[in-house]
Amino acid sequence: MTIAIYPGSFDPITNGHLDVALRAARIFDQVIIGVYDTPEKMLLFSPQERATLASAAVKEVSNIEVQLYSGLTIDFARKVGAQVMVRGLRASADFEFEFDLAMMTHNLSPELEMVCFMASPQYQFLSSSLLKEVARLGGNITDWVTPNVALALVNKVKSPSEKIF
Ligand code: ADP
Repeated sequence: MTIAIYPGSFDPITNGHLDVALRAARIFDQVIIGVYDTPEKMLLFSPQERATLASAAVKEVSNIEVQLYSGLTIDFARKVGAQVMVRGLRASADFEFEFDLAMMTHNLSPELEMVCFMASPQYQFLSSSLLKEVARLGGNITDWVTPNVALALVNKVKSPSEKIF
């Protein structure tokens, strides 16, 4: 049984993230989307909100689940028994960071294999941060996220301090 974790901030989960998770779920027996609770980033959604939005987006896929985690990703991988860490690679933005992450992960935990999925052409330019900017400015985001996430984003940019769940 091959278990893969797909760790990230998912602030919020986009169709680009989902595309990677679904493709990974065709290859690995189980995919666990790991929502990292406190990345060094300015986040719009709380950890619980990010995890709830991600869970709703994958609820119909039997071999994908979502877990919140804190601390080192390699420790999360060990805890859930994962042999693989999945990440996504967009053409221009991601290579250097993901390469460094792969090297560091290999040093910390050589048994954990990192597998990168090339972003699909239609999602190459899509990032959570760009999406938040478009939502803040009132642009249409419905092509890039699930209806649930679109609604949550629109409400959240209006009143960022309000809890949505
Ligand atoms: P992190 O804060 O760990 O970078 P993100 O939520 O931004 O977390 O992204 C998680 C992973 O998904 C990263 O590997 C990132 O490169 C990848 N990713 C983000 N957006 C896309 C996309 N549009 N298509 C494919 N992969 C993506």
